[in-house]
Amino acid sequence: MSLEASVDRHDLPLADAFTIARGTTETATIHAVELADGDGRVGYGAAAPAAYYGEDPDSVAAALPDLLAAVERIGDPHAQQRVERELRERAPDQAAARAAVSIAVHDLAARQRGEPLYRRWGLDAGAAPRTSYTVGIDDPAAMADRAAAIVAEGYPILKVKLGTDDDRARLEAIRAAAPEATIRVDANAAWDAEEAIEATAWLEALSVELLEQPVPAADLAGLGRVRDATSIPVAADEACVTARDVPGVAAAADVVVVKLMKTGGLRGALAQIAAAHAHDLDVMLGCMVESDASIAAACHLAPLVAYADLDGSLLLARDPYDGVPLPDGKIRLDPDAVGTGVEPA
Ligand SMILES: [Mg+2]
Repeated sequence: MSLEASVDRHDLPLADAFTIARGTTETATIHAVELADGDGRVGYGAAAPAAYYGEDPDSVAAALPDLLAAVERIGDPHAQQRVERELRERAPDQAAARAAVSIAVHDLAARQRGEPLYRRWGLDAGAAPRTSYTVGIDDPAAMADRAAAIVAEGYPILKVKLGTDDDRARLEAIRAAAPEATIRVDANAAWDAEEAIEATAWLEALSVELLEQPVPAADLAGLGRVRDATSIPVAADEACVTARDVPGVAAAADVVVVKLMKTGGLRGALAQIAAAHAHDLDVMLGCMVESDASIAAACHLAPLVAYADLDGSLLLARDPYDGVPLPDGKIRLDPDAVGTGVEPA
């Protein structure tokens, strides 16, 4: 049996422009990978690179042919240790491209076994937490309207992007519009430690459940001071890219944000989750603005974690792939599906 890989670039418009502290996104460019086994089965994956981590669609497009040639040469989707070692050697700085290949390889292997991917790790599908739904930065009234609309659609957990000149007014408007919602806040490294510590007073008053990356990634001392100043659990995202960053943030955060596009694949994500748990940290599984072709794989890891933020494909106007359904934010892992369950839409 031999493997045959293909790549397709998709420029996917978002349903609405999506703004975080670092900038605005209107189109998500992904590279979808398909890996066929010659026996009618196809594994799906996709790369959603982030400029913050030094990747973009061109770097993904440049890296993928060599990575996929290596996978074709190895010829065995069950040889994942070897596949991911070769991917790391060939593209150490291209985590999103490696993630696309890793996801497709794991998907195909699970399809060949005839079981859903989460069963590979013996996970309890019912243990997956609900995903949050993200509210991007806008003026306070628009953010409040958006929050109310998301809650009305059935999603009870909001993740609110902050890092503006008037964050408090924005969050107060959202809280007034969504009094029952669980609210998490992500400042995407926009505050300094003093601003963040000041903010914790009103974040606590507005019953924020989780505070993600309040300060720049390199300011671990500041992150720790924020953590010590508040009862709200503090999460490290930009400050904790892979498993090797976990020991460094362990004394400064309560939660680690794991993303396949940061770890470069599923084995790296499992390692980061295990490292976090070994340091007594909780884990949030997150994503970029992505297609279901990649988010579905993260959904299969969700039973391992306390928090899920896997709404990236919900922000797209159109997704060329269907993955794991998220009705009311519930991650619906189907025991009768094979692989990640991804199929072309
Ligand atoms: Mg984040």
